Amino acid sequence: MEIVSEKSDLDYREKIQRNIEKIKSDIPDDVTLVAVTKMHTVNETQAVVDAGVYDLGENREQDLMAKKDKIQGPVRWHFIGHLQTNKVKYLVGQVALIHSISSMKLINKVETESEKKDVVTDILLQFNLADEDTKSGFDATELDAAVSRVAQCAHIRLRGLMCIGPMTENSDKIHKIFAQLKQMYDKIKITYKNGDNEIDTLSMGMTNDYPIAVEEGATMIRVGRKIFER
Ligand SMILES: *Cc1c(COP(=O)(O)O)cnc(C)c1O
Repeated sequence: MEIVSEKSDLDYREKIQRNIEKIKSDIPDDVTLVAVTKMHTVNETQAVVDAGVYDLGENREQDLMAKKDKIQGPVRWHFIGHLQTNKVKYLVGQVALIHSISSMKLINKVETESEKKDVVTDILLQFNLADEDTKSGFDATELDAAVSRVAQCAHIRLRGLMCIGPMTENSDKIHKIFAQLKQMYDKIKITYKNGDNEIDTLSMGMTNDYPIAVEEGATMIRVGRKIFER
């Protein structure tokens, strides 16, 4: 029995590697693949790192911190989930990038916690362009206000924007949303002023819509299910 399960474990590790190779062959070299490892075991997550993907995304603070100690390798941890202000202090100084800054309250909290720890925290502003109630994020109309606020924060470095595509099969609608975020991204590349402008990250596209996101200019995609397909 044991031998059988070891074999299937090995098969699955190889499948994960092939899934990753397939995704990488779909995207240009300069687009960063963030492997979304949420809800997957430490072994499955380690298989992703062993396949050479070092950007890992988690959507719960507890899960991220629990895995962080156990995974071997030069991992850059990305926090991509809905963020509560009381969890910010656990993430600051621990992750490479927080994708999901979706309110002024969160901006302010990241600034205070980063100042306390004397670090600069890299963030993306999340927008809810599909206007779906279930998603958090700023409205498009809040772009200027959010960027101005962030520009006043000495302990925050704005790296770009993030969104989740609309829940639809209609590819025209998906294109439209991603193109809108790209336009906003191009705008803030010019308007954001805070030391060195390091806006270089447009995080959009998941299993169902990453090819569209890449067409529309994503520099970073966040893929979960397709990596772990058996
Ligand atoms: C789960 C999740 C993903 C990955 O979605 P898949 O459909 O599994 O590829 C990407 N981004 C966010 C914010 C997520 O919560």
